[in-house]
Amino acid sequence: MSEREVPMTIAERVARVRERIQRACEQAGRDPDSVLLVAIAKNHPPEAVRAAAECGIRVIGENRVQEAAAKIPLCPGHLDWHMVGHLQSNKVRPALRLFSTIHSVDSADLLRRIARLAADEGVRPRVLLEVNVSGERSKFGLAPEQVPEVITAAQDLPAIELVGLMTMPPFFEQPEKVRPFFAALRELRDRCVRDLKVALPELSMGMSHDFEYAILEGATMIRVGTDIFGPRPPPKKPAMEESP
Ligand SMILES: *Cc1c(COP(=O)(O)O)cnc(C)c1O
Repeated sequence: MSEREVPMTIAERVARVRERIQRACEQAGRDPDSVLLVAIAKNHPPEAVRAAAECGIRVIGENRVQEAAAKIPLCPGHLDWHMVGHLQSNKVRPALRLFSTIHSVDSADLLRRIARLAADEGVRPRVLLEVNVSGERSKFGLAPEQVPEVITAAQDLPAIELVGLMTMPPFFEQPEKVRPFFAALRELRDRCVRDLKVALPELSMGMSHDFEYAILEGATMIRVGTDIFGPRPPPKKPAMEESP
């Protein structure tokens, strides 16, 4: 979008994203209802979330616990909130009070801590394991070869429901270049399901720039921020720095 164009409203953006989902699903021979649109609201105010909710968005993603804790009380109560960012172990308890689903579990230790505190809080979160399929050093996530052992650890933790895998592939100007990373996550999931006899129905992959390719490779949750809410404002400086 060039600077001079009139900015689209959130309603227009949501309609466009839905059309793109529809088209990608047609191409993939999939039911559009099999793709959950998670609207990533990080850095956007409660008013933006409310506008998205008015367009029928039901699931909102955040990447920081503190931001979500401030925002959620100011948003419609029927929304389902997902944590998609790196979760620090000292934020697990508040995260469990805010989020139904955590996409970004990247160690067996974190998984065990979530399970322990979930039992304590009387909740049963849905969790996904974040996998660093590209091996980029800058990325959070389990190495693909670590995934089976963490799934096995999860099988002993009834307080959590492990539902699938998530990835954040590298950024490429041409989104089709990301497709092999999406395929790699699906293949890893399929291998784990076959070898470990677990159900892992969810694949959380695809963002504004590339979600069509993720849908073609089997994404069941796409995480779309910019193409719903518009360009992200810079993060607000918290009044007090978050403790490390
Ligand atoms: C910000 C973010 C997104 C959304 O990115 P867009 O490119 O704005 O769609 C998706 N997933 C995670 C984990 C994010 O932090």
